[in-house]
Amino acid sequence: MKAWWRKRFFGRREAPEEGEAFDPAWEPVLERNVVLYPRLPEAEKKRLCARLVEFLGTKSFEGCGGLELTEEMMVTVAGTASLLMMNRPGPLFPALYTVLLYPGVFRARHVEETDSGIVHESAPETLGESWESGSVILAWDAVRPGDRNHTPGQNIILHEFAHQLDLDDGAEDGAPKLDSREAQRTWTQVFHEAFEERKWMRRMGHRCVLDDYATTHPAEFFAVATEVFFERPARLERTFPRLYSELKRYFQFDPVVRAGLGVR
Ligand SMILES: [Zn+2]
Repeated sequence: MKAWWRKRFFGRREAPEEGEAFDPAWEPVLERNVVLYPRLPEAEKKRLCARLVEFLGTKSFEGCGGLELTEEMMVTVAGTASLLMMNRPGPLFPALYTVLLYPGVFRARHVEETDSGIVHESAPETLGESWESGSVILAWDAVRPGDRNHTPGQNIILHEFAHQLDLDDGAEDGAPKLDSREAQRTWTQVFHEAFEERKWMRRMGHRCVLDDYATTHPAEFFAVATEVFFERPARLERTFPRLYSELKRYFQFDPVVRAGLGVR
């Protein structure tokens, strides 16, 4: 473990010094655990690794529920999250400070107040959460490919970090910050149409590459679409070509080209 990172691991905030950057020992972890990484050209791998180093240098990790953090865990989470920002300029998840990792399913406490002032508390079991207050919480066994709670084709890391991107403009509404009003208008129109179409498919009992959970809220629609964009790009492009095209423009990345058509 690199010195600067070891210090961070034990809670001291310290940026990497010049020359202390990517550890080649992380490469096999990325190859194994980060979707599409093995298929990226060298230039994109370099950009992803630069974002990964930035992530590890600016965000904290915490093991919860008795989980002992390892390099593999941190590199897997930071590397997958960096896939979203590898080709995009701008700050790296500026609202995020801490990633909390549990060994498996955890309970997150939610407090909601109804319009009539009744406070409702719940603690549902979950595999991932993203909080406006600066943290992402993940179940490790849902994150690593092949582990107990991991579902092929789904990606909790991409899902929760898509929520962080959505927060960029201050509202978690399925529309992240975009470059222009025109881009915002197009995004809103394309996403609204796809969201309504997906809800109609659910009502009609049609199966879809986007999980039913995507129909619960526009923010969930964006998060699920982001997972599928990287995990099942060819199917997403076939089913929702305009949605795919918006995501491609936003992430400045075309996973169908990287994956090879129909591979995933
Ligand atoms: Zn979500």
